[in-house]
Amino acid sequence: MPVPRLRFAPSPTGYLHVGGARTALFNWLYARHYGGQFLLRIEDTDKARSTDESTRAIFEGLVWLGLTWDEEVVYQGANLPRHQADARRLLDAGAAYRCFCTREELDQRRAEAEARKEPFKYDRRCDALPRDEVQRRVSAGTPFTIRFRVPEGSTGWDDLVHDTISFPNKDIEDFVILRSDGTPIYNLAVVSDDIAMRITIVMRGDDHISNTPKQILLYRALGAELPAFAHLPMIHGLDGKKLSKRHGATAVGDYQHMGILPQAMLNFLALLGWSPGNDIEVMTVPRMVELFSADALLKKASVFDPAKLEWMNGQHLSLLTSAELEPRVTPAIVKAGLATEHELAGRREWYLMLLDQLKVRSRTIDDIVRQAGPYLRDEIAYDPAAEAKQWKDRPATAELLRATRDALAAVGPWEPAPLEESLRALAEARGLGGGKLFQPLRVALTGLAVSPGIFDVLVLLGRERSLARVDAAIRHLAS
Ligand code: GLU
Repeated sequence: MPVPRLRFAPSPTGYLHVGGARTALFNWLYARHYGGQFLLRIEDTDKARSTDESTRAIFEGLVWLGLTWDEEVVYQGANLPRHQADARRLLDAGAAYRCFCTREELDQRRAEAEARKEPFKYDRRCDALPRDEVQRRVSAGTPFTIRFRVPEGSTGWDDLVHDTISFPNKDIEDFVILRSDGTPIYNLAVVSDDIAMRITIVMRGDDHISNTPKQILLYRALGAELPAFAHLPMIHGLDGKKLSKRHGATAVGDYQHMGILPQAMLNFLALLGWSPGNDIEVMTVPRMVELFSADALLKKASVFDPAKLEWMNGQHLSLLTSAELEPRVTPAIVKAGLATEHELAGRREWYLMLLDQLKVRSRTIDDIVRQAGPYLRDEIAYDPAAEAKQWKDRPATAELLRATRDALAAVGPWEPAPLEESLRALAEARGLGGGKLFQPLRVALTGLAVSPGIFDVLVLLGRERSLARVDAAIRHLAS
């Protein structure tokens, strides 16, 4: 078995979008799982639309995701001489011919066909020109394109995703491979480069299916061995329409800046078109590499659900140790003005404990920062919704908090077990369920309706601050 060689071949005409990243990921996973190579080719032949900025954004996005490539980047534009030589070779071999029809003539014939409600297909008139007429025009400097002569029959392949796909050749017109200015058409450039890069599997979006028969014909005419083809299903938005900017952020960089973890992004993208089976969803990157299988690629379009991405991010946040999380969260905490780096370093052990408590309740770094507020700030604000729900009867709540404060003040070592014992005893004495006591206390301590377990909150805040918070809440309720 030859070593699989795959490539990601983006056109640098914009940012790296999630669909492109998904294609890159599946190529990368295939290479990593089956012990192959993953290459990167920048398809910059469209000089008018390609930009260096876009090329940089593609590199940056791939590096952020960790989808690194194994050989030097190939720039398609640098291969122009080979593209031209391949076109020439096809011409010399009689597999292609010169076409002198101008764009205006073709446009007019297309319009005429449309008026007759017929599909337009090039009528091969230049293929019928006598040899000396062709020579005469070439010598006179008449511009020409080179067209590939599509043979009879049909062209099909065994797609790794879709199984057998076949097109009747009569539906494929004699397509141009080289423009009159000597630049190659996409299909020729891709095939020429894939042959030169010894690509064994071409994996790309479904939107390229109609290019594949043309490319197969070119491979054959160039006498090259065919790669395998895998066409990945489209990604749709929640409304079932092709994913676009209308659906929200589609640039990988946007998610990076939103604080999504690269491993969560990869995991989320991996499930767009692949099912590892056994209800497995959350996977580390090494686990994805291990479980990946080309047989498990899905045929039908997948749905990009931002809520699922956020959920996935929460799952991966939980998988990180607090020490791994710390360098990601600290800048956000500092930026939010909750603490300085120096302050956090001064109580690192406590800080890591806090992160351990918060990460399991967070979907994003921002969630962690929001929840960290009550532990880092001197003053807290009461969330109006939490207040309305948990402090409905204000005088009764104030009274209950006073009793709670007395019970807490009497606790010996400020640790979860004695704290729990004391509060449960109070609840029992008053004939209350634990929640009836803990929920109002939670709002008093954090200002929020959701937090880590109440005893952990008390320990994180410490005795003095906890008691002060309860006092402040009692004052607030009385005012
Ligand atoms: N450059 C093409 C694109 O961005 C991909 C070509 C290919 O994968 O064959 O859609």
